[in-house]
Amino acid sequence: MRNISIAIDGYSSTGKSTLARQLARELEYVYIDSGAMYRAVTLFALRNGLIGPQGLDADGLLARLPELEVGFRLNPQSGRSEVTLNGENVEGDIRTLEVSRQVSEVSTLGPVREKLVAVQRAMSRDGGVVMDGRDIGTVVLPDAELKLFMTASPEIRASRRYKELLDRGEQVKYEDVLKNVRHRDYLDSHREISPLRQAEDAIELDNSDMGLKEQFERVLAHARRVAEAQ
Ligand code: C5P
Repeated sequence: MRNISIAIDGYSSTGKSTLARQLARELEYVYIDSGAMYRAVTLFALRNGLIGPQGLDADGLLARLPELEVGFRLNPQSGRSEVTLNGENVEGDIRTLEVSRQVSEVSTLGPVREKLVAVQRAMSRDGGVVMDGRDIGTVVLPDAELKLFMTASPEIRASRRYKELLDRGEQVKYEDVLKNVRHRDYLDSHREISPLRQAEDAIELDNSDMGLKEQFERVLAHARRVAEAQ
């Protein structure tokens, strides 16, 4: 069976990363969480005072882009490949509501996207990858053999995210999480460069009413058929 590339795009909190991880584990592919890379750049901006009460200092961030290196490293404890910022594992710091609030703004910057897309493509050169994000099927891997586009209602997505944040001990209100989900949907699908949209050849998966196990099994069977047909 040939190693294919699987591109998973969709709105925030549609379960992209859960599905991508499951597929990668089962098929023994590499999982690339492109959102974690945009989050790492956002964390850099927050840590370096490039996001303040006036908002994002885009010029300041772009000036420091050359000193910024984002990658992945296997964490032997979790068995997962985790995102690094200039060599530091920042996986534990990038999922906060603070980073979520700023990340879509950072993601509108062309030079940030170019830099991260180059890393994403280099990691995918030999196939055998599952990558999730917003522009994977349209921009990063337009030739991916299998493309999925995931959706679910904003309320369902917000309640999933809310539970995740509570489980991690963050003090958040459901209404704020829902507001953030809707805001990111809007920014991600209306930005000028690489907006979130469904690739023409992507399969749409609405999982508002579908269990994760059922979804995984269906997609896995389909991925195997696609790989066998290559
Ligand atoms: O996938 P996740 O929700 O962690 O992504 C965080 C944010 O990063 C998204 O809301 C989006 O603004 C940005 N992003 C992007 N392009 C990608 C992946 C994520 O613009 N390929």
